[in-house]
Amino acid sequence: MTGNLRDLSTIRLALEESKPDEIYNLAAQSDVGISFEAPDETMEINYYGLGRIVNEAMRINPGVRIYQASTSEMFGRTKPPQNEESPFQPVSPYAEAKLRAHNDFVVGYRNKYGLFICSGILFNHESPRRGKHFVTKKITHSLSKIKHGLQDVLTLGNLDAKRDWGYAGDYVEAMWLMLQQDKPDDYVIATGESHSVREFVDAAAKALKMTIKWKGKGLKEVGVDDKGKVIVAVSANYYRPNEVHYLCGDASKARREFGWKPKLSFDELVKLMVETDEKEVRFSKAYKEFI
Ligand code: GDP
Repeated sequence: MTGNLRDLSTIRLALEESKPDEIYNLAAQSDVGISFEAPDETMEINYYGLGRIVNEAMRINPGVRIYQASTSEMFGRTKPPQNEESPFQPVSPYAEAKLRAHNDFVVGYRNKYGLFICSGILFNHESPRRGKHFVTKKITHSLSKIKHGLQDVLTLGNLDAKRDWGYAGDYVEAMWLMLQQDKPDDYVIATGESHSVREFVDAAAKALKMTIKWKGKGLKEVGVDDKGKVIVAVSANYYRPNEVHYLCGDASKARREFGWKPKLSFDELVKLMVETDEKEVRFSKAYKEFI
């Protein structure tokens, strides 16, 4: 069935046909970088899209339970560690739209209509399924290709940005747990450990048994391999007009209330992503040589 958050009729049809007890709204214009170029579209999907879902869902089943994928990006300028009590200070159109959806349709509808709706304020969660425009997958995929001679250079933006990266599989379990509680509430889901983009590159290189040495500063910074060849470069094209510099979450409420904690460590996550990408790269290399 085709679903489109911009189109009420597709949502209505999907909900009437499936008559859900639980809804997980993970659909979004989820690219922070693109949200600066397409703020209207981002608002249309991430804010009004949730409005369409909650209004239709309440009409079809007033007892429905809804999970809304909110985001650590809503904290924006707020210093870590960020938890449910921390102020929201969004710095991108993506985060603005998610925050409005959180305020109006999660907190607002819970208070006004008694709707069972929860915001999962999830910090970055990654897996081999991550899209290549996200920095983690871009790094693991590109370094795998560089190792096997299919790419020369990996070009990145801000290497100093710090993120609290967890494994998506662990975070999906937390989403489900939120909807099994007696009362709806909002929860931060995070590992409590933060790494810079540069550190992610180092961890991916280590998992691939590659050596990277860093030289230079700012836009001139490069990562070179053991033969001195530049394999990582920096370009202003990947810098954002406005940046969230440092995210590190405190998920103690989720731990206290329903015993959630992440199972995969940072190094295990990087290894999982690298292994999947290296396998794919090996396969496509063998295929190219074959034809
Ligand atoms: P986000 O935290 O949801 O925006 O997830 P991303 O994976 O898109 O970005 C994480 C961080 O990596 C941000 O601070 C970006 O500025 C930084 N970054 C550095 N280089 C890149 C790049 O080439 N692509 C992306 N997507 N992010 C980059």
